[in-house]
Amino acid sequence: MSPRAAALKESVCAANLELAASGLVTGTFGNVSGVDRDAGLFAIKPSGVPYAELTPYHVVLVSLETGEVIDGDLRPSSDTPTHLEIYRAFPCGGVAHTHSEFATALAQARLPVRCMGTTHADYFRGDVPVTRELARDEVEGEYERNTGLVIVETFTENGISPADVSAVLVANHGPFTWGGDGHEAVARSEMLEVLARMECTIRAIAPDAPRPAAHLVDRHFLRKHGREAYYGQD
Ligand SMILES: [Zn+2]
Repeated sequence: MSPRAAALKESVCAANLELAASGLVTGTFGNVSGVDRDAGLFAIKPSGVPYAELTPYHVVLVSLETGEVIDGDLRPSSDTPTHLEIYRAFPCGGVAHTHSEFATALAQARLPVRCMGTTHADYFRGDVPVTRELARDEVEGEYERNTGLVIVETFTENGISPADVSAVLVANHGPFTWGGDGHEAVARSEMLEVLARMECTIRAIAPDAPRPAAHLVDRHFLRKHGREAYYGQD
């Protein structure tokens, strides 16, 4: 295994441990992956290994082209085909999946995390959408791959840029987030959960509260993420 592949395994292992430490995960639910596009592979958590026992050795390398395991003694996470379809369609470096409480509650209610203020707009330029329900044949067939395809469909059908909104709620399932690498994807999952909790509160206290203006949302998103971003020290 190349030093680069070893470094990716280490980074993805660390990102999975960050996810476990974030409190967003119950049991072995949740997984993080990271991609090396030049090498044509991604690294992902193995299936069913408790976070307390996870080491870089356990992390599995999967081909971006075929979806087959390239390196690793364990089976990759059962959600691997979902990660694969996200990598194939979206220009991201890392993907995270959780069943965090409030984001999952909204996914189960099939409600988006609406962009209602600047906390949201600092991270996501608009609503975090919910996918459509999967059809019976999609569930009974290649379920995990179809979950990835319905995520991609949600963005293409609705004209949403995955660079503007780096998160989705899969209907009756839970959230997926993505970012520059696995660590960033985990940080987005944490922020999404905070925003989902706020959204549940807003829906309870003022379901018809007016939306923020697009110019306010754009100002906040672009000062952090746009080409002319000026927030921060670098
Ligand atoms: Zn799941």
